[in-house]
Amino acid sequence: MVLSLVACSGGKEKESSEGTKEGSGSGKTVGVAMPTQSSERWIKDGDNMKKQLEDLGYKVDLQYAEDDVQAQVSQIENLLASGVDCLVVAAVDSSALVNALAQAKSAGIPVIAYDRLLMDTDAVSYYATFDNKGVGTAIGKYVEENMDLANTKEAYTFELFMGSPDDNNAVMLYEGIMEVIQPYIDKGTLICKSGQTSFEKSNTLRWDQQTAMKRCEDILSTYYADEKLDIAFSAFDGLSYGIKAACEGAGYKVGEDWPMITGQDAELMAIKNIISGSQTMSIAKDTRVLAEKCVTMVEAVLNDAEPEINDTEQYDNGKLVVPSYLCTPEAVDKDNYKEILVDTGYYTEEEISSDS
Ligand code: BGC
Repeated sequence: MVLSLVACSGGKEKESSEGTKEGSGSGKTVGVAMPTQSSERWIKDGDNMKKQLEDLGYKVDLQYAEDDVQAQVSQIENLLASGVDCLVVAAVDSSALVNALAQAKSAGIPVIAYDRLLMDTDAVSYYATFDNKGVGTAIGKYVEENMDLANTKEAYTFELFMGSPDDNNAVMLYEGIMEVIQPYIDKGTLICKSGQTSFEKSNTLRWDQQTAMKRCEDILSTYYADEKLDIAFSAFDGLSYGIKAACEGAGYKVGEDWPMITGQDAELMAIKNIISGSQTMSIAKDTRVLAEKCVTMVEAVLNDAEPEINDTEQYDNGKLVVPSYLCTPEAVDKDNYKEILVDTGYYTEEEISSDS
């Protein structure tokens, strides 16, 4: 049976005489554990989840761990102790929550994995995410098309700046990119001068901007003294800002020899950089849609029903293949950002054009 948000929320919430929302969530509390507020996307994720759940009458306890693994473990333990009815988790370290989630399972509290797969646990019921390999494929294809890799007689230099090794999404994104670009590496159209093309050599712990900046500085000074870097495959806008700073430091100039720099999340800063030319593209992930899908999962587990799922194969966490809903990521650049981000109300023109 497929359960839609509308169906399981009984249509819509209504206001009670005290002014509190009554809906399917009335009287129930959902604990939402998010990784960090240092990146804009997770703030939007948290806000969307809170709003959509509150609109259905749930109480929401939203926690951010600021990328501290132990802080997130404690937050989850506290949420369980406070008696939440359901737990939604976007992990800092996807394998570090095994014990905390086992506690949830023994207390009969259902767990939904949000955006990042929860690894090595059988305590997770569902997973709401984007097509993570598809993010990598979209980045690869964007570069393939825009550099005309299939037809060019040129050879381009490139470097990889991948995500965190403790996040399954980062590995899948890498696989998606490599599937597209490996044939061009084999043909000699793409040349990685550092030789750091494995995930082990190119990952960035905790998706950290400073780490990416330092690694990019080292790569540029060691391998690009006599030749320019043409393409930086960055797995996240935060990393792209670090790469941008390293390129500026090495004397690259936008409009002259600036490399193509990719990204992910379509953060506001990234869109501004795309418009000014210091980043080429990003991947838009509509966190409103992700939250909507996750909320249908919360509703389902609390009402003993089945939510809509569109993948039952890809997300093996080591203990089970987690039934998942994959939302669709979209490549965004200077030509389509208005259509994808402004026309849909994700950002306003004012936000994009403001200086701050
Ligand atoms: C998310 C990305 C995000 C990255 C860094 C990943 O798990 O899927 O959208 O860019 O974390 O926060």
